Amino acid sequence: METAFIDGSMGEGGGQILRTSLALSCITGKHLHIENIRAARRKPGLAKQHLSCVRAACQICDGHAEGATLGSMVLDFRPGHIRGGDFSFDIGSAGSASLVVQTVLPALFSADKPSTVTVKGGTHNPWAPPFDFLRETFLPAIATAGFQADCRLIKHGFFPAGGGKISFTIQPRQATPNEPIDLCKPLEKPDVRTRIYTARLPAHIAHRQEKLLCQSGLRIKNFEHVDVTDSDGPGNCIMLRICGNHRTIVSTAFGAKGKPSEKVVREVVNLTQAFLSSSAAADRFLADQLLIYMATSKTGSYTTNDLSTHLTTNIETIKKFLPVNFNIEQQNQIHRISCEPE
Ligand code: ATP
Repeated sequence: METAFIDGSMGEGGGQILRTSLALSCITGKHLHIENIRAARRKPGLAKQHLSCVRAACQICDGHAEGATLGSMVLDFRPGHIRGGDFSFDIGSAGSASLVVQTVLPALFSADKPSTVTVKGGTHNPWAPPFDFLRETFLPAIATAGFQADCRLIKHGFFPAGGGKISFTIQPRQATPNEPIDLCKPLEKPDVRTRIYTARLPAHIAHRQEKLLCQSGLRIKNFEHVDVTDSDGPGNCIMLRICGNHRTIVSTAFGAKGKPSEKVVREVVNLTQAFLSSSAAADRFLADQLLIYMATSKTGSYTTNDLSTHLTTNIETIKKFLPVNFNIEQQNQIHRISCEPE
């Protein structure tokens, strides 16, 4: 069994190196040895969310892991064969359910039969894809290249209480030729729509955020307030949904105890303005999440307004497993990322 040696401190030095490595170890059958896991994070090593990712990877391919303990900075993972089926994972904290999905999804597209994946944990967490982003931005983007999955939110889970639940149904990708990921054209005449979530918080918070958004200079087409009643704890996030040519980019900023609404609004407005003024097709988050799908299909291209260290680190991680090259071309204010066989 060939071994991929990964240094978890490279580049961004966060959990994404681990998740991408686990996914690609399952897909390529390569033994993974990773050291310095999350070395650049305040609390390095495996947190509950990352342990759930390791366990999930073990389950979908009958793999074996050594070093899968809280705080561990070294992990040895030996994958078996990927098998489709029904899987349930419980993070046991408010750790992001989306990031567990991010680990297993690429592998389950190459399973022998459809799968369902249900994850309990946080569904709307800072520093992770909120469920709405997965449903409206990410899944439609990869579906253009034959990666078909549906998702549903069973219960909201906001950080720090967690307790949410999401479920995904994944179809094996057909062996027949598929279109490549081709997301280079900007959204045409995009509309900006707002979705504000509050859970166990007074309604005036959302009203004030709506008012601040009205004063932001963005031309917002409609407002939606979702008052979540089944949440285990309080939560607030503002989403600006940029919609055009049947595509949506969901930009999100999260409220937190003691964080003024002005700051939450400014964060989401800044993200949205940076994207809208760039004529890119993928925002900074979609940009790092598409790479593994381009790499497994050895083709594809997209444009993004932000060349994040997540993106460049993910490229370095992917190249340890797959014989692919990524080209990065600067075109005025945007970057065109493309993938080809080595
Ligand atoms: P940790 O080390 O704590 O696990 P991490 O460094 O892995 O964290 P990040 O890499 O910062 O976590 O983020 C994980 C993923 O979440 C990335 O793929 C990033 O694109 C995605 N992400 C973060 N914030 C958002 C957001 N607001 N919308 C969509 N995706 C997001």
